[in-house]
Amino acid sequence: MRYVPFTTIQDLAAVPEYAAECVSGDEKPCGEKSGEHTHPEHVEEWMRRHTQETRHQNYRRTFTDFAIMAPSELEPARVARVKA
Ligand SMILES: [Zn+2]
Repeated sequence: MRYVPFTTIQDLAAVPEYAAECVSGDEKPCGEKSGEHTHPEHVEEWMRRHTQETRHQNYRRTFTDFAIMAPSELEPARVARVKA
């Protein structure tokens, strides 16, 4: 079996996801969620509104992107074709 080296590359065809969750609260975190957004500004806007309404100020933010394990010998142009 031949060893094929792989390289991790970001899948630019898949839209990354941004989200936030309110973790304010002493005993039990608020838990309110922004939902998934395709732009960080939308999450920030949600946080701004939530803070205005509740005075909650602590958030857990997540960012998700998608990756491709591509054989290192492939040219970037070929990676796109393999994926399609
Ligand atoms: Zn909250």
